[in-house]
Amino acid sequence: MKLGIVGLPNVGKSTLFNALTNSRVDAGNYLSRSSNANLGMVNVPDERLDFLTKLHKSEKTIPASIEFIDIAGLVQGSSKGEGGGNKFLSHIREVDAVIHVVRCFEDDNVIHVNDASGDSRLDPVSDVDIVNMELIFSDMEIIERRIERVKKVLKGDKSVEKELKLLEELSEVLNDGKSARTINYTPEEELIIDESPLLSRKKIIYVANVGENDIKNISANEYYNKLNEIAKSENAEIIPICAKIEAEINELDEYEKTEFLSDLGIEKSGLDKLIQSSYRLLGLISFLTAGPKETKAWTIKKGSKAPQAAGKIHSDFERGFIRAETVAFNDLLECGNMNIAKERGLVRSEGKEYVVCDGDVILFRFNV
Ligand code: GDP
Repeated sequence: MKLGIVGLPNVGKSTLFNALTNSRVDAGNYLSRSSNANLGMVNVPDERLDFLTKLHKSEKTIPASIEFIDIAGLVQGSSKGEGGGNKFLSHIREVDAVIHVVRCFEDDNVIHVNDASGDSRLDPVSDVDIVNMELIFSDMEIIERRIERVKKVLKGDKSVEKELKLLEELSEVLNDGKSARTINYTPEEELIIDESPLLSRKKIIYVANVGENDIKNISANEYYNKLNEIAKSENAEIIPICAKIEAEINELDEYEKTEFLSDLGIEKSGLDKLIQSSYRLLGLISFLTAGPKETKAWTIKKGSKAPQAAGKIHSDFERGFIRAETVAFNDLLECGNMNIAKERGLVRSEGKEYVVCDGDVILFRFNV
């Protein structure tokens, strides 16, 4: 599962990416540079692991992780090949969801790069438009080609009539400069549309990169408010972050971090929120396993059943699945330990059809 960080030049993408990956990259994982994109695995913060590690005196704690890729190089005209545009688009094509960073901080020392507005004033609406339009242009080409193909098929096969109608409606929306994700499809329509992977249909989180002084009182930042309206109109999430502060926070140890955050009047670093929201956006949840050797969060798709979850640990666990001994993390936390949880009947024995919930602490019984 991969998230791509996109946005115009100089909006703070690299600053954000570095802050994300700096303290959160697993030593065993990689951080590499390929063409014009940086890749990095980022740990998903999860306080539940701390409790389980203490409870079991685990030697190791292994959090879940997701991959971020910093995709540089988008400028106006990218979809037409400007500024190495095709490479940029192919990077976006590979990701499961998009983090769109928008500049909402004022700083005369940092040039505002927006070829359309032609001046240096910040304008999140026009900035967002440029990026979205490049994705929309690329989608338009794909859909136009598909419409031509379907029209040819239609001459001998009337069954594609519905497909053609859907494509023509989509083409109209794209031509209006709107992203494909603004359309609500039925599951059946979705199957038809998703035969063409579209960039403007990818799930998105808007990151408002705000100034150092805005974090405390975010609604006072007019750029943020404008971006918030855009996000609302697309049913997309928006997260305010000051990338510069996040980069500074990362240099601190845990104690200093807490002090620094409380001085700023906030509880959690924006990055933690961003990582957790990204995880949710991708439709992912974690189940947990814990013992003296290790406490670990395992990533599964929401809706996965117990044997599939077991298969994440080892294919033998899935093949020979018998039962899953399961307790909800919050129940365990309230009881304090497994024995009390068992006494109170909170440890359940679940079978093959059980749909695993986020935070389930599981011990699998299997036979191979
Ligand atoms: P990118 O081109 O989008 O990757 O942008 P960079 O991350 O390289 O940032 C461009 C410039 O903006 C750098 O000089 C950063 O130090 C600065 N910058 C990034 N985020 C912030 C911020 O939140 N506040 C301020 N004042 N400057 C920032």
